[in-house]
Amino acid sequence: MAATIAIKNGHVFDPLNEINGDIMDIYIKDGKVVPELSDAEMKNAKVVDATGKTVMPGGVDSHTHIAGAKVNSGRLMRPEDSYKWNRPKTSITHGGTGETVPSVYLEGYEYAQMGYTTAFEAAVPPLEARHTHEEMHSIPMLDMGGYLVLGNNWFMMRYLKEGDINKAAAYVAWMMRTHKTYGIKCVNPAGVENWGWGKNVESLDETNIHFEITPREIIEGLTEVNEMLGLPMPVHLHANNLGHPGCYETTKESLTIPAKVKPNQDMGVEWAETKIDPTKDKSIYLTHLQFNAFGGTSWRDFESGVKDITDYVNSQDHVVIDSGSVPFGEATCMTGDGPSIHDIAVLTGSKWSNCDVELECGSGVCPFTYLKSNPVHSVQWAMGLESLLLIDDPWKTIMTTDNPNGGPFTKYPNVMTWLMSEAYRNETFSEVHKWANDRSTLGGVSRELSLYDIATITRATPAKTNGMAHRKGSLAVGADGDVTIYDIDPTRLDVTANYNDLLTKFRYADYTIKGGEIAAHNGEIMSIPERRTYYSDIKVDANEEKKMLEDVKDWFRYYTLGFENYPTPEKYLVNPTPINVNMEK
Ligand SMILES: [Zn+2]
Repeated sequence: MAATIAIKNGHVFDPLNEINGDIMDIYIKDGKVVPELSDAEMKNAKVVDATGKTVMPGGVDSHTHIAGAKVNSGRLMRPEDSYKWNRPKTSITHGGTGETVPSVYLEGYEYAQMGYTTAFEAAVPPLEARHTHEEMHSIPMLDMGGYLVLGNNWFMMRYLKEGDINKAAAYVAWMMRTHKTYGIKCVNPAGVENWGWGKNVESLDETNIHFEITPREIIEGLTEVNEMLGLPMPVHLHANNLGHPGCYETTKESLTIPAKVKPNQDMGVEWAETKIDPTKDKSIYLTHLQFNAFGGTSWRDFESGVKDITDYVNSQDHVVIDSGSVPFGEATCMTGDGPSIHDIAVLTGSKWSNCDVELECGSGVCPFTYLKSNPVHSVQWAMGLESLLLIDDPWKTIMTTDNPNGGPFTKYPNVMTWLMSEAYRNETFSEVHKWANDRSTLGGVSRELSLYDIATITRATPAKTNGMAHRKGSLAVGADGDVTIYDIDPTRLDVTANYNDLLTKFRYADYTIKGGEIAAHNGEIMSIPERRTYYSDIKVDANEEKKMLEDVKDWFRYYTLGFENYPTPEKYLVNPTPINVNMEK
């Protein structure tokens, strides 16, 4: 089904293979990048002329919210989100609506038209895993995976409090297999459990109700378990106190906790040859730095606390972050951090929904509009860009909007252009509240990211961070045939006079090729390519698993469903693709 394709004469940006704008041909056969095509194969190949254009691996989003119960709650509670934004059906596509929480079909089409081919749903509550997989099943165009929310899970908290790290590891391994998920998500550890009692935790060393465990103990335990098992990605941490002025201090301290945990990953998987070592070298992946870096002590003296954290990240090697950038306009805040959403609802008077997922976690949803006239929102815009510009090494940064929390993923082109063009940033500074300049360091930053940097923070770093560099974010021989061609001539790039051009070019990729098939061309969906769902298949000592399951079955009496009904069967997944993690015994 996958076509044979030759992409000729493009300027290739492939950071995992240290290719920086070289004019090259890329060949794809049977869905994979190949070194060359024979004369016979060339005769039947589709040839795409990329002369004077930019060629990158397909985009990889390692943090988005596009599937599952809270996304669907967002759709249900926001009919107004659909009024202005719709896409008519074509002979091969469905129609759809929604700007910040689009319908499933639209999500796939709009990612594809921007050049993205892979996305990870960043919060899957175990009990909602079936629902999440059902939605992922319906999202076209994208390879996907999901992170399992474990930071307030009763079973985890009990094991970690008892110091039984082996059973905690056996539980994580079993849960990943049971719910077909990819990595560990930790949201406001210990605090979401307290939210069940209308409370939160204020510091890393405050114990929560009933379990009497601290956020520090949970972060320590989860990061240790993650590396014991050798999961493909580091723990994805949403720190405590998020969204409160002054929270940057908690975040910074949280990042010191896994400093001593040694990253571990079994490299016995089918790696493609990449020049940059694709082994996992980070022990923590901080989510949406912007939301975790509020400075000041109240909204009156609110300021950016980003620089304090980026200074720390620059001095360390164990941290990778994504930005959670704010591109202004409509957003829908949705997170497993129920108390933080409650605070937003109180602050804005907006409609609000909240959910407690029994024994496991919680969530909240609240519509939000980021205004250029608002002082705090303007600082948040600057903070999202500081997050990506103040960290020197692009291998430590990933561009996101925490879709749709900072804004919808369809605004990635704006974020990419702000990063590349100081002139565009200055234009925006002239339109927003003066706090953006007064209360952040962004105004003094002259750094402009190159196309190579953009390829790093939107392709190579997310793929490497998630242990996917053997397939994604790379154009090495053997990698997936996922390619983006932008109609951007790097030799004529003028980011000062012509940045508006970039906005359109990033928005509508000239070509998005997935698995060797032309998926999108200039904003039009050309085909519906095959896709996969990745999950971590972790083997642990059978005896340890048996002992752990005895506990779990015993404690299962507190659930409202039976143990047999808990697992998510593989049939809920589109092309289930287990990653063999192979724990060392
Ligand atoms: Zn998120």
